[in-house]
Amino acid sequence: MRHHWLHALAFGVAFATTPAAAQQAPGFSAPVEAQIQSVLPRMIAWRRDFHQNPELSYEEVRTARVIAAHLRSLRLDEVRTGIAQTGVVGVLRGGRPGPIIALRADMDALPVTEESDLPFRSRARGTYNGQSVGIMHACGHDTHMAILMAAASVLAARREEIAGTIIFVFQPSEEGAPPGGLGGARRMLEENLFGDLQPEAIFGLHAWPGPSGTVTMVPGPFMAGSDRLDITITGSQTHGAQPHAGVDPIVVSAQIINALQTIPSRQMDAVNSPVIVTIGMIQGGVRYNIIPQIVEMQGTIRYLNPETREDLYARIRRTVSEIAAASGATAEVNIAENAIPTVNPPALLNRARAAAVRALGDGAVIDGKPVMPAEDFAYFQRAVPGVFFFYGVNPPGVENADAAPNHNPRFFVHEPAMETGLRAMLAIALDHTTQ
Ligand SMILES: [Zn+2]
Ligand SMILES: [Zn+2]
Repeated sequence: MRHHWLHALAFGVAFATTPAAAQQAPGFSAPVEAQIQSVLPRMIAWRRDFHQNPELSYEEVRTARVIAAHLRSLRLDEVRTGIAQTGVVGVLRGGRPGPIIALRADMDALPVTEESDLPFRSRARGTYNGQSVGIMHACGHDTHMAILMAAASVLAARREEIAGTIIFVFQPSEEGAPPGGLGGARRMLEENLFGDLQPEAIFGLHAWPGPSGTVTMVPGPFMAGSDRLDITITGSQTHGAQPHAGVDPIVVSAQIINALQTIPSRQMDAVNSPVIVTIGMIQGGVRYNIIPQIVEMQGTIRYLNPETREDLYARIRRTVSEIAAASGATAEVNIAENAIPTVNPPALLNRARAAAVRALGDGAVIDGKPVMPAEDFAYFQRAVPGVFFFYGVNPPGVENADAAPNHNPRFFVHEPAMETGLRAMLAIALDHTTQ
């Protein structure tokens, strides 16, 4: 793999490049390589601009404007805005006939207050769930957008050689659907994202703790399905000294929380159907000597194997309602889909992997393991065969265990790693559109 490390001197305007020790030949033609080199400083500048100006889900108004202006400056054949509220789509028709493919980046930031001393750190604030919050690109979506804008630059500059059509999908609201609404991927698809340009494949990447200069590719189930769990236990209110005169929903909820943990560990196949059930919120009671009537719990369910979902739901409902019934309480269980599992079709993954190896070198492609966070790229995969992969963002010398995880106020992307993400995306796109 060849690497040109970018060193920011200050505030994202001045750069110097120093070639690392000569390694394997790069996998791009000289003209493509020249385009890559020329776009790298702008890619970093775009990322810093997005980082400094993060916007919450479905509020990516400024972000969308910056992206659309860039795509128009490339004179793409089509630039559409306002799809799924703040989404942006660009279409590049190559000079020669060939397949249609799509490349996707997500746009939203999180209600997280950044803890860093970066000169371009976010000081943005906003309102989330009625609370005043800091806003931060704590999941690296700023880098995904900058990488896809850079890829669009490179591919647009080589459009005469492109055999086929490339759709650039900038998707809002990845970080979870608003209450009662749809997340960005589903909404874009409902709003007829592709129209009569149905792609034969779609690709996306994500910043993730891992060595800089690497990508991680996993065939089959890669990221979990995620559902929201809401439980209401209703007992009968009574004096704290006279529990027999009522039904105590607090003791019932304690039994339920413990019993739910036995579903992943005692009832599901630990190897073929890994499952997590987390209760993240419990609320009940107002005073130490009153047994309340109601306890409410909220949680998240994660699973990797789509085939076991209905069975898992049934076990959760059974456990909750039978334990409640055993004490004379009643239980209401609501499970709402948040994201389905991200599953990489093995043949398409292997093709993407081979392209990445040719571009980056063998050692740069890690065959990883599935993870239990979710990603709504899965909905694109349900509509179009698709591959999702990670690019490593750890600074040199930082191990995964020491890296701040995604969504942490100290989540940090080592910027030179973005070049690897860009090269991987370009390698995959050109593999499908070079004939
Ligand atoms: Zn995230
Ligand atoms: Zn994310």
